[in-house]
Amino acid sequence: MSKAKKRRESRGFGNHRQGFDPIRDFDPSRGSLLGELHALRDALRTQSIRFDLVLEKMRQGLCFFDGSRRLVVANRRFAELYGIAPEAIRPGMELREIVELRFAAGSVPEMTRADYLEWREGVVGANQPADSVVKLRNGRTIHIHHEPLPDLGWVATHEDITEQRHSEDELRRRNLHFDAAIANMSQGLCMFDAQERMIVCNLNYPTMFGLSPEFVQPGTSLYDILQHSVDIGVAADNADELYRIRREIITARQPRNYCETLADGRIIDIWHRPMADGGWVSTYDDITERRQAESRIAYLATHDALTDLPNRAFLRDRLSHLLIAKANDDSKGSARLTALLLLDLDRFKEVNDTLGHASGDKLLRMVAERLRALLGKEDLAARLGGDEFAILHHVADGRGAAILSQRVIDALVAPYNLDGHTANVGASIGIALAPENGSDPEALLTCADLALYRAKALGRGRFAFFESEMTASAHQRRALELELREGLIRGQFEVHYQPQVNVTTGQTCGAEALIRWRHPVRGLVEPGEFISIAEEVGLIVPIGEWILRQACRDAARWREGMRVAVNLSAVQFRGDHLAETVISALSAAGLPPARLELEVTESSLLEETDATSRTLHQLRGLGVRVSLDDFGTGYSSLSYLRSFPFDKIKIDRSFVREVTASANGAAIVRAIASLGSSLGMETTAEGVETKEQLDLIRAEGCTEAQGYYFSVPRPAGELAHLLGSNIEMGDDNLLTNDRFLRNAGKVA
Ligand code: C2E
Ligand code: MG
Ligand code: MG
Repeated sequence: MSKAKKRRESRGFGNHRQGFDPIRDFDPSRGSLLGELHALRDALRTQSIRFDLVLEKMRQGLCFFDGSRRLVVANRRFAELYGIAPEAIRPGMELREIVELRFAAGSVPEMTRADYLEWREGVVGANQPADSVVKLRNGRTIHIHHEPLPDLGWVATHEDITEQRHSEDELRRRNLHFDAAIANMSQGLCMFDAQERMIVCNLNYPTMFGLSPEFVQPGTSLYDILQHSVDIGVAADNADELYRIRREIITARQPRNYCETLADGRIIDIWHRPMADGGWVSTYDDITERRQAESRIAYLATHDALTDLPNRAFLRDRLSHLLIAKANDDSKGSARLTALLLLDLDRFKEVNDTLGHASGDKLLRMVAERLRALLGKEDLAARLGGDEFAILHHVADGRGAAILSQRVIDALVAPYNLDGHTANVGASIGIALAPENGSDPEALLTCADLALYRAKALGRGRFAFFESEMTASAHQRRALELELREGLIRGQFEVHYQPQVNVTTGQTCGAEALIRWRHPVRGLVEPGEFISIAEEVGLIVPIGEWILRQACRDAARWREGMRVAVNLSAVQFRGDHLAETVISALSAAGLPPARLELEVTESSLLEETDATSRTLHQLRGLGVRVSLDDFGTGYSSLSYLRSFPFDKIKIDRSFVREVTASANGAAIVRAIASLGSSLGMETTAEGVETKEQLDLIRAEGCTEAQGYYFSVPRPAGELAHLLGSNIEMGDDNLLTNDRFLRNAGKVA
């Protein structure tokens, strides 16, 4: 290698940064002049090749004009950019000519030639570096950089920035969306970097925490924000503690959801999500109202809306907690008992029916108030529904529960003033003790329920403790129920009839149908032993329908005008089918409606008065007779006489028994009979057993009588002679009747 060549290399030929300037770098002191000239020529050639290469590789289009405003060089990219054939562009061309080529190719902005040229001339004439962005007719966007040269020439670079512009636009659009999204989200949002400095937050964030928007500028540190919220009294804790909790969450680098309660009680639900770069995003939701609504719902689900007492669900829950706690306590030797009192109001229905539901509601609220006043902090009173309440109470022994029960009964029995009306109700209570009666809520509730059943059966206004044989009697009742169902299917029921006699004429005017159950083992069972159970379990409906149909069929064979009386129970009025059943029974038997008499008791009238009275009116409209049975035994018989036009009053046999025993008895029968006659109703004396009673009730004004004096209830076949003929009032007949009595074993 020649020396010159070595020198050239050592000077860094091809060094892109410095470049080789043949004039500047010419060194006449070195070597022969010819050699140096050769080297210079070589160098120039090499540089020109490199320059061309660089020009061709450029991303931008380039035009180089000299001081005489003629093109020195333009690269291929320039031609491509404007859709011009590269060979059409030649050195020496004027700017105008090139502009012409572009117009021909259509790669010019929406401007006239003259305007465009004027603009370009202006840029060149200004002799200043200039940048402009031009949108071409073909939709492309070009960035042109104009760089003047010292010789008044210039270099212009042209870059297609269409895609770049697109992505910038897209980014701008996305940023706008992002801004809109975070500005409009219902939560507060904050983004922090790895150095715990805020990157961005929406307006909800400072608003939620009462911070001024100026304070939460990007760059504010997390600690400063926390400290500030403590300073202005928003945060409930001190800044160090708040920061410690945050740091724990930040360094865990896991998504977290937690709540913070502010000084004013608001609850903020915070979602923390770490970001890949070590920062995080937090969203903040004020869930105070939601929490309040949730706790309100939870409260409503466990409390009775009327009295605000805990409800059955709450009681069951508390009971099960207590029983678990008790089991633990017992293992430590505690002797305390938990008493569960089930309480049922007596005669509440009457208040509801006579004074209306609003008064009933008021009374229930007053009952709740009285219970609250009686109980201690540890006790619990609950309303289970209707007029049923429960009390949970801790006692040392059963005596404690008995004392409380009596206090409750005494407190509830005091009269209630309901908007000027005085109402009297009582309470019956069933008591179960844990753990001895049961150790789970269900079992205990069942025990208390059985005890309550007993308390009511004992005559109400009382309390009763659960006893294990109650379970047995409950089982017996269950067994009886099954037997009743079986009896109904197997046709074990019979109807017996007891004649009803007109006391003036002595004529039998009809008979009352009384059910009997011919039990395969127990023999003939009287209704007193099974009617109440049948009512309890609803079996009275099919049984009642059966007897109604049977009685109508039997009566249809009796003498013309002979009536049959059928007892109806309250339960039969509950469904909508009673009237339908009666009509169907009458038409199936071909019995005129006037020959059917339905006996209702006050207890049937006590329930659902509206529906019951509608049904009664409907039946009476058909011509069926309706009588009020067992008159005088109920609570407000007189008010029922006013509410429905009965055809007949049946004076209960307890008064008839008194008629011969006391002057009062006779006076009562007389009063009822005269009431009946003034209301246009017949009066039947029930349970007439002697001639003396018969004479007296006749003297007091009763129109009919029924009782063992005439006949015990007997199968229809055995009474055919009575139902078809007159009964003589003489001694002969008495003998006949006595025979009946002896046969039936009813009287000694
Ligand atoms: P009730 O409707 O008041 O029927 C009269 C009851 O008094 C009958 O009792 C009858 O045998 C009895 N009795 C009649 N005369 C005398 C008497 O001189 N002295 C005495 N001590 N008692 C007399 P029974 O048949 O045991 O019926 C009792 C109750 O069972 C009936 O009272 C009625 O409420 C009910 N009952 C009977 N059959 C039916 C029925 O088919 N359906 C419904 N729902 N209840 C019925
Ligand atoms: Mg009756
Ligand atoms: Mg009766």
